[in-house]
Amino acid sequence: MELSKRQTQIVEIVKRHGPITGRKIAEKLSLIRATLRPDLTLLTMAGLLEARPRVGYYYTGKTPTVLIANTIQQIKVGDLKSVPAVIRETSTVYDAAVQMFLEDKGTLFVVREGGYLEGVVSRKDLLKTAMGGADLHKMPIGVIMTRMPNLITTTPEEPLLIAAQKLIAKEVDALPVVRAVIDENGQEALEVVGRITKTTITKIFVELGNGR
Ligand code: ADP
Repeated sequence: MELSKRQTQIVEIVKRHGPITGRKIAEKLSLIRATLRPDLTLLTMAGLLEARPRVGYYYTGKTPTVLIANTIQQIKVGDLKSVPAVIRETSTVYDAAVQMFLEDKGTLFVVREGGYLEGVVSRKDLLKTAMGGADLHKMPIGVIMTRMPNLITTTPEEPLLIAAQKLIAKEVDALPVVRAVIDENGQEALEVVGRITKTTITKIFVELGNGR
């Protein structure tokens, strides 16, 4: 958030003299109270100032950067996850390539019956297999996918910031959003409920940049 010259002056006055009433701030700027009202409203809404009834305005100590960080830290994976693109383990590498193309996805999550996570296949996995000369119509993706315990996942409750850090640290493009469940056989399993990708993070970056 870029402050106007007057808003910066107000913040400086409140920093030095707060708590201070709107009328006193106006006096110091040789303005009338009504003129300052929009600025005071904006600064309060932005979290830079806080207003206490009968006491006046005081400075919260929160810089715009801290406020943006607070906003980002509150976003949960569950707020933004999108629909996952899934494929069965028995599908062929060729099927996976066709599905990626048709659904315009760079990563597919491999699931067994019931929607439980088994693995991940990315574009590079398919390229590697194609370069190796295997018969793409015969090779099942179960053979080439990345599987447990090497899968990096996230949950709806996890902060999006942590998910974004995983994308960077593990150098992957997408994370399956999972929920730990007990399957029909009484075994622990991960149900795929969504996905987080680098595009998810780019979109939220743009939204925050546009002040939404
Ligand atoms: P690309 O193939 O477009 O480079 P990635 O960088 O995401 O896509 O994939 C690189 C490798 O990491 C692939 O072998 C893929 O199977 C694996 N991979 C992708 N996503 C995950 C994930 N969430 N957890 C574990 N491995 C993954």
